Amino acid sequence: MNIYNDEVFQMACDQFQVIADYINIDKNDRDRLMYPKRSIAVTLPIHMDDGTTQTFQGYRVQHHLTLGPTKGGTRFAPNLSMGETAALAMWMSWKCALANLPYGGAKGGIACDPTKLSRRELEGVSRRYMQEMIPFVGPHTDIMGPDMGTNEQIMAWFMDTYSVYQGYAVSEIVTGKPVSIGGTEGRRESTGRGVVYLIERAMDMLKMDAEKSTAIIQGFGNVGSVAALALERKVGVKVVGISDATVALYNPKGIDVRAAEQHVAKKGNLRAFTEADRVDPNELLTMKCDVLVPSAVDRVITEKNADKLQCRILAEGANGPTTPEADLLLNERWDEVFVIPDILCNAGGVIVSYFEWVQGLQSFLWTESEVTDKLFRILQHSFAQVIRRAKDHKVSHRTAAMAIGVERVMKAKHARGLFP
Ligand code: GLU
Repeated sequence: MNIYNDEVFQMACDQFQVIADYINIDKNDRDRLMYPKRSIAVTLPIHMDDGTTQTFQGYRVQHHLTLGPTKGGTRFAPNLSMGETAALAMWMSWKCALANLPYGGAKGGIACDPTKLSRRELEGVSRRYMQEMIPFVGPHTDIMGPDMGTNEQIMAWFMDTYSVYQGYAVSEIVTGKPVSIGGTEGRRESTGRGVVYLIERAMDMLKMDAEKSTAIIQGFGNVGSVAALALERKVGVKVVGISDATVALYNPKGIDVRAAEQHVAKKGNLRAFTEADRVDPNELLTMKCDVLVPSAVDRVITEKNADKLQCRILAEGANGPTTPEADLLLNERWDEVFVIPDILCNAGGVIVSYFEWVQGLQSFLWTESEVTDKLFRILQHSFAQVIRRAKDHKVSHRTAAMAIGVERVMKAKHARGLFP
């Protein structure tokens, strides 16, 4: 299908076909499960601060509506395309199904560089995007959330734009909002916290000593920075490498993550942070460590570096960091590298988004510790299921995780039937 013509979409399809072969999905069901239900492209003309009008391209892909509304983040990134959005929506479907959330997957976003827009321009493009999406979204149709390049403020603008149109406050139209307008305590930290919770489970299983372990984290955004800090402060792991889009840093004695975080809060990125040595960003991934956490962009672990990874645990905080070719190499190294696949590892964000949506629908309030407890319980259950399935069927953790998700969606599709 041409509108999805994109390497990332191809990768998501290739991953799906591996699962379809493994669980023997009938060929009549494959396309039905794989292709998105609906995809919307919008053009967003915005008044820029310099008096010109600039148009931006926006997308929303709703992968399937079989189990309930669709759910997924909104990404603001310069090269975002319909195909990449569709791949991310497909991954959301398997992620939600694995966690047993009553959602199909979605993803959306705008092809723009949010760091190059003024606050007024960012508000303009965010509001215009939601306004164009009003006919296609709703608390029972499709619920947006944050993703790369978006934050609580942008979610607040989405919620306000939708609510003004309806004539009353509809907090349940988006998740990841500020707590002051119906956001959930702990949503911002939830993805990173989930990643670290699962790393701890893996370390227990592998009988690793946290105090003697080291970690390298790629990406210092909402996921990477929270994960790095929790690994250092809560688990006691020494963080020896961090990176963002501007620089990769390594210090075998350990990096003070709080200081790095404070630096980013002031300067916007890690570029001028001096308490570690600069290294080649590609090499950071293959440096020696016990826990490697890619939590930035997709396709960073490929056939070129998969056999060079020196970590014991690969915890995928990002969506799609490992290509199917790299998976083949990692499958051979299953007893050296313990993979916590993305749809399990980074599910904490959408799980707490689900709590936020339920709270909004029912006007409930939960404390942060209640939210975190519930989050960990779901992750613990998913983790156990994935490990058991992988062991019983002698398949990789990714295959086990995706198969559980795909099977749940397929079962629901079969139960509902095909109309007419
Ligand atoms: N962007 C997050 C993800 O990729 C979560 C989206 C949401 O909360 O809806 O899982």
